[in-house]
Amino acid sequence: MEMNLDINFSVQQKGLILNGAARPASLPFINPATGEQFGSVRVTTETEVQLARREMAAQAPIWGAKSVRERVRIIRQLQTLLIDEMDAITGVMNKDNGKSRQDALTELMMTVNLIDEYCRRAPRWLRRRPIPSGLQIFKRAYIEQKPHGVVGVIGPWNYPLVLIIPPVVSALLAGNTVLAKPSEVTAATGAMIASLFQRLPELAPFVRFLHGDGRVGAALTAAKPNLLFLTGSTKTGQLVMRAAAESMTPVICELGGKDPMIVLEDADIAAAARWGVWGAFYNSGQTCMAVERVYVVKSVYDRFLQAALVETQKLRMGYSEALFNLNDVGPLTFQRQIRIIEDQLQDALDKGARILTGGKRQEMYVEPTILVDVDHTMQVMREETFGPLLPVMVVDDQQHAIQLANDSRFGLSASVWSRDLDRAQRVAHQLEVGSVNINDTMSHFAIPRLPFGGIKESGIGRTHGKKDLLQFTQTRAYVVGNPPHSFDVATVLRRPGNYKLSAAIIRFFFGTSLRQRLQPVRELLRERVQREETAGAPSPRRWITVTGVATAAATTALTLFLAAARRREKTT
Ligand code: NDP
Repeated sequence: MEMNLDINFSVQQKGLILNGAARPASLPFINPATGEQFGSVRVTTETEVQLARREMAAQAPIWGAKSVRERVRIIRQLQTLLIDEMDAITGVMNKDNGKSRQDALTELMMTVNLIDEYCRRAPRWLRRRPIPSGLQIFKRAYIEQKPHGVVGVIGPWNYPLVLIIPPVVSALLAGNTVLAKPSEVTAATGAMIASLFQRLPELAPFVRFLHGDGRVGAALTAAKPNLLFLTGSTKTGQLVMRAAAESMTPVICELGGKDPMIVLEDADIAAAARWGVWGAFYNSGQTCMAVERVYVVKSVYDRFLQAALVETQKLRMGYSEALFNLNDVGPLTFQRQIRIIEDQLQDALDKGARILTGGKRQEMYVEPTILVDVDHTMQVMREETFGPLLPVMVVDDQQHAIQLANDSRFGLSASVWSRDLDRAQRVAHQLEVGSVNINDTMSHFAIPRLPFGGIKESGIGRTHGKKDLLQFTQTRAYVVGNPPHSFDVATVLRRPGNYKLSAAIIRFFFGTSLRQRLQPVRELLRERVQREETAGAPSPRRWITVTGVATAAATTALTLFLAAARRREKTT
């Protein structure tokens, strides 16, 4: 592993400025690679949070009244600006986060890809939809997607652009105004995003950025937005949900992960090692869906380890502000991560793990580290690391791998490696996660219409795709018609004394067999025959004929009705 550390590291460290201390007036921008301060932003006070909440509530009806096409037109201006300013944007992210300009650009690409996709599809996804009105055939039913009002978006520091701008855009496209709280750790990117919005006069009045630490996030929650969208750790998710419960504010959470990767005996081992190592160490492992544990079937374990070792040792660590550089792994962004990584590493070593490669730290740089002889008693296999540690565990077979992969409180993503795609899918279907990537790692996040999100303690809700956009709306239902007809089913059921007829309707329309469905017709005719006989009619033959004809007619009518209803359902 090549270390390229030409660093003059000062005492400044990110993200610990506010913890436990009195609220300062400003947040410094600190480059995690050098420790240098390169600017600051004023911290939003609690009073300003309240004021911003009121302002956004006042603006919500104005923005919400714009047509979706008009909102798209305005949001396209943001897309244009992001592309025009890409070099300046990657410059800030590089200094703020420590990631390379190219990695920052990848984040920007995913951001504009999502905006582009949503702008194309929003008019269709958000349009009014007719709903079949069931037995109430004289009424017309439809649904509309209405905005919640004011949406709070709270974001993390690891991908400070793509985890703030797209949810803000989704909320806006859905017709909401937004209060956005970027992370204090990447405050420069937060301030830069705010200034981009400020440059768009048609958009700026409908979004407010709140700068500060978790206390500003807590103040935002306390300000009772109509919906909260949080991307962050499971612990913060719990805190926010608890606080939001007070006001019954709905919360969408995209939280932490401990993503497993499974390598089966028929996998392309070279590819698995290459992309597994990439998935573990990209962004210094500070990715929610990073490969955080690998399970390799024993027959290919040694080959995989050897290949993973070679791939890891090829990685080049370092920091550069240049657009072109060949570094793979930069510094950690957040000081807090060092303690977590070192604690997990020590715990694993104490319990018998071995370091295959890496293990050293210099200031904010932690070497990409492969651990072997690991098991599920170790924190590194159970708790989110969010750093460049890759524990690799040998398993007996496929079933053993599935069982261990599911032995986690998290359920964000997973990766399965096999040349047999059917087999890999069968394994994937048994994994308790929100997404599975077969024969690759992390790339699924970049598919803009593929829902992304977790189960278990990894979150509630989904980003990306139609589901993402629609979760920023409330579904409102409408039924339209003239006052009830006397022969409308709803009228029949509401009129007292109609028990028998109501029972017949239930059998006829919802019976599970032809016999059950036609029972009302048979009963009706039987009654009529009995009445005729009692009245001394000459022969029930005429009624037997009528019975046959009526049954056939009823069957045909029912079949046609159900076919039409099904057709109608398919087209809506
Ligand atoms: P945190 O949970 O520490 O913070 C997330 C955001 O919440 C930050 O803006 C933070 O402010 C804010 N916050 C902190 N405390 C509160 C509070 N009491 N009320 C309201 N807001 C609060 O997460 P990190 O920023 O450390 O991000 C890393 C975590 O995010 C990892 O667990 C990672 O897995 C997860 N993540 C999940 C993703 C997903 O899509 N599932 C994607 C990316 C990351 P501040 O930072 O200023 O203190």
